[in-house]
Amino acid sequence: MPIESLFQQLGEPHGEPWCLLFSNTGISRIDASRKDFGSLDDLRTWLLGKGILAKGSPSTGEDSRVLERAIRLREAVFGIGSALAHRRQPSEDEVSELNWNVQKAVVAARIDAVGGALEWNLTGLRTSVSGCTGLIALSAAGLFTSDQATRVRECNNETCGWLFLDLSKNRSRKWCDMSDCGNVAKARRYYAKQKALRTGS
Ligand SMILES: [Zn+2]
Repeated sequence: MPIESLFQQLGEPHGEPWCLLFSNTGISRIDASRKDFGSLDDLRTWLLGKGILAKGSPSTGEDSRVLERAIRLREAVFGIGSALAHRRQPSEDEVSELNWNVQKAVVAARIDAVGGALEWNLTGLRTSVSGCTGLIALSAAGLFTSDQATRVRECNNETCGWLFLDLSKNRSRKWCDMSDCGNVAKARRYYAKQKALRTGS
């Protein structure tokens, strides 16, 4: 089974890979009003909300180093996604950060025999924050090595910088969210035009 189908089976929303959703959390690259995860619990809540962490998973046994690792992975995913969106080669450091997390996740992954077939079993990764970080790394590895890697975009709003997957037919999507960044840009263009009309410039 290709890794994308595997993630769909795990509940990853179509067109919104977990790795990109995760890369869009926390401090905006530009807008300082967006706050980062203040604690491991904040990250746990986010993972639960996205259905990545299994409900009822124990909230003990992990410390703030898990949060630090997750944030390092997030920055690497953002860096790689941004590089691909701009047709640049991602940095070696970002790729090795991703590799470290992928390798750790693969150690925790299993293959089960189900009847006459073999299936990936990633459920063990869903019961801890560090496991979920591994799932996000596998989601990133799956996306960035797939055909869809050429559809990774960085939002055109220069105060946003979020990553998204452009699944539009003519590959022309510019904004992470039309109702948010798209409208900001539209309003800005409108006011600039009005101002130009008023001043005659
Ligand atoms: Zn945006």
